[in-house]
Amino acid sequence: MANNPLAPSAAFVASVKSVAAQEVVDTAAIQQLDTAHYMHPFTDHKALGEKGARVMVRGDGIYLWDSEGKKIVDGMSGLWCVNVGYGRTSISNAVYQQMETLPFYNSFFNTTNVPAVKLATKLAEIAPAGFNHVFFTGSGSEGNDTNVRMVRRYWDVLGHKDKHTIISRHNAYHGSTMAGASLGGMEGMHAQGGLPIPGIVHIGQPNYLESGRGMTEDEFGIEAASWLEKKILEVGVEKVAAFIGEPVQGAGGVIIPPKTYWPEIQRICDKYGILLIADEVICGFGRLGSWFASDLFGIKPDLITFAKGVTSGYVPLGGVLVGDRVAKVLIEQGGEFNHGFTYSGHPVACAAALENIRIIEDEKLVQRVANETGPYLNKRFAELADHPLVGYANSCGFVAGLNLVRKKAAVVHDHEAFDESLAVGMVCRGYMFNNGMIMRAVGDRMIIAPPLVMTTAQIDEMIALIRHCLDLTYADVKQRGWV
Ligand SMILES: *Cc1c(COP(=O)(O)O)cnc(C)c1O
Repeated sequence: MANNPLAPSAAFVASVKSVAAQEVVDTAAIQQLDTAHYMHPFTDHKALGEKGARVMVRGDGIYLWDSEGKKIVDGMSGLWCVNVGYGRTSISNAVYQQMETLPFYNSFFNTTNVPAVKLATKLAEIAPAGFNHVFFTGSGSEGNDTNVRMVRRYWDVLGHKDKHTIISRHNAYHGSTMAGASLGGMEGMHAQGGLPIPGIVHIGQPNYLESGRGMTEDEFGIEAASWLEKKILEVGVEKVAAFIGEPVQGAGGVIIPPKTYWPEIQRICDKYGILLIADEVICGFGRLGSWFASDLFGIKPDLITFAKGVTSGYVPLGGVLVGDRVAKVLIEQGGEFNHGFTYSGHPVACAAALENIRIIEDEKLVQRVANETGPYLNKRFAELADHPLVGYANSCGFVAGLNLVRKKAAVVHDHEAFDESLAVGMVCRGYMFNNGMIMRAVGDRMIIAPPLVMTTAQIDEMIALIRHCLDLTYADVKQRGWV
């Protein structure tokens, strides 16, 4: 990129950054306009309007700055996506250059563009074996909508017109479009708008803490996978098209399955010949210390959903990696597949993704998470389990979660939880934010997914912040008489 004649000069970029850094944002004015005009995702607007939104203005590396000048460690990588960290000038340059050259052209009507072809080729190179085709979308939700249409089309082409049911899991997150939210297992989402759509059913999630009482983790993994076989037999194998799951459930609270779970799921899918879809929107692009978690867990899915980390969130992009089994049928026998988006293969998004992937490779971020920073985070995060509020702390690569409990016991299943209505997780999240740390609360489980560029020194900084905020939360709940 350094030799790109179209790219803005380093001096220009530096001057823009310094102006942006010094720009004074009138927080109250922005909050007022925000309340007046901006409808946010997953938000109670009446409640937000009363306190006003936080205004983020700048990011650099693993840090964010809000409109009050507060510096914050972004423990969530934006929303599981800013894998290479903020402030990557080479991505801005790649985007700038592509916008100057060809800001948009569609991939309909026998047309293609260079960044989309290069990215599809690159993805086929880094994807697990047997993935040689890519369908681009604008987001993870659209990727999963594409999956629904693709697996149903696959079975139609093969003459199995009734094989349309997709099995997913409770508490899964697969996006927020009609099909994405239906595939997802979030009760609150299903309760609004008449979801799930027909032909999508759910089984339990492999949540050891919730359902593994009396079993070892390994025993529980086999048990949780057996729910898939039960469901296939209940629905009837002639009606089941596919199973979909996140290798590690993200939005559901960083639910890390026992190591026996995925191989058993694979065995069951193979036994009944149904397609396996791995939703790697969070797990892909190095988050767990491998390019794709399917490789890590030793499974061979037929379709892989991706988004988020593919561009580190700099520009929206998602899609589906299409395995050879499905691609062969759709391409050789399927004729036209009546599906696609205006922004499928958007040249600017693809240019951002190519540069993002180049950075991940150049800085060996996947290897670092696998061998150095991931194991270090794992060790430091596990130490938090000695805190009086923490009942269970576990991690996998660069995702981690801990459960806040009222009273600890010798066996994890005997920890005493807080009354849900106390919303202790939200209390803790408040202390985190006020002290410069973004840690998300899913009920009383506190989770992180830091940028993959986080160093071991920064992990120390983050763990110290988390511990300090756990202390503050503990003092608070004690004072309120909740423990
Ligand atoms: C975020 C997410 C999605 C949805 O992606 P969007 O880009 O928000 O549509 C789908 N699946 C998983 C696992 C996710 O984490």
